[in-house]
Amino acid sequence: MSILVVGSVAIDDIETPFGTAKDVLGGSAVYIAVAASYFTTPVRLVGVVGGDYPQHAIDFLNDRGVDLTGLEVVKEAKTFRWSGRYHYDLNNRDTLSLNLNVFEKFDPKIPDSYKKTKYICLGNIDPTLQRRVLEQVEKPTLVVGDTMNFWIDTKKEELLKVLPSFDVFILNDSEARLLSNDPNLLRAAKKIRAMGAKTLIIKKGEHGALLFHEDHIFSAPAYPLEDIFDPTGAGDTFASGFTAWLAKTDDLSFENMKRAVIYGSTMASFCVEKVSVDGLRDLSYLKIQDRFREFKTLSRFDE
Ligand code: AMP
Repeated sequence: MSILVVGSVAIDDIETPFGTAKDVLGGSAVYIAVAASYFTTPVRLVGVVGGDYPQHAIDFLNDRGVDLTGLEVVKEAKTFRWSGRYHYDLNNRDTLSLNLNVFEKFDPKIPDSYKKTKYICLGNIDPTLQRRVLEQVEKPTLVVGDTMNFWIDTKKEELLKVLPSFDVFILNDSEARLLSNDPNLLRAAKKIRAMGAKTLIIKKGEHGALLFHEDHIFSAPAYPLEDIFDPTGAGDTFASGFTAWLAKTDDLSFENMKRAVIYGSTMASFCVEKVSVDGLRDLSYLKIQDRFREFKTLSRFDE
C-alpha cells in the first residue's frame, strides 16, 4: 500500500556529548520517508525547501525511491533549520534555534497523484498544516499523526482541532504530560484519548513505548543499545516504522498494531546508532526483520 508522508524537511545542527554535526539532513518528513522506503512503495513526500537545500539530499531521497512530486522548492527562500543540543543521558534535549523560514508561508498542496493514498503519516509540523493536508485527501484507511512540545506550547488549540482526525496519535512521555497536564502516563493517556485520539502511542525513549487501542494496552521495550550516537529522528522513524508496517500488511488488528510498534522501535534503534539519517542509509528489509525478531527474545518469558 502507498504511504503519504508530510512533515518538515530540514537542515540540522546537532550537538551531543560525543560530537557535533553541522548542516546535516533532518526534518520529520525526511526521516519518515527514508525509513518507510524499506517497507512499502510508493512513499510520497509533501514538504517544502528553499533554494539552499542540497542536491545530494534530493539525490539520496530519489535513490531511496521517494516520490518527490509533492516537494515544493522556493528558490528565493531558505530551508527550515533546527539546531539542538542533547544532555548527557541523551533523553533530554534543548532546541538551540529553530527557523521556520520557508515553512512560515507554506500551504501544502497535495498533488492529484497523491490524493487517494491509503496510509498517511503526518510528521511533526504545524498542526494547521496537518489539517490542511487532511482536507485534501480522499478517505484514507489510516491517519497517523505526530507532534512535539513546540506545537503543544505554541499551537495547542490548532492541535486539539486536528487531533480527532488522527486514527493514531503518537507523542512522547514528556509531551503527553504537557498536553494532559498530568504527570501520570495512564491518566495522561485517558485524558488525551478523551481529546479525540482513538489509538494512542506514548513513546518513552530508551524505555520503550505504550500502545493504547480500544480497551487494550501493549507495553513494548526499546532495543537495548550500547552505542547511541544521535537520537535525532528517533520519534519520526518510530512513527514511520509503525505506519509503514501497517501499510505493508493492510491489517489494523490490535495484534498487528503490536508488531507495528515493534517495527517502529526497530527503525528508531537503527536511526540513533549514527548521526542524522546515516543510520537509515544502508539497511535492508532482512536486517530490519532480524532485529525485529530479537525483540521477541527480549521480553518473552514462561509462566
Ligand atoms: P525527532 O528527534 O524525532 O523529534 O525529530 C527531529 C527532527 O525534527 C529534526 O531533524 C528537526 O529538523 C525536526 N524538527 C525539530 N523541531 C521541529 C518543529 N518544531 N517542527 C517540525 N520539525 C521539527
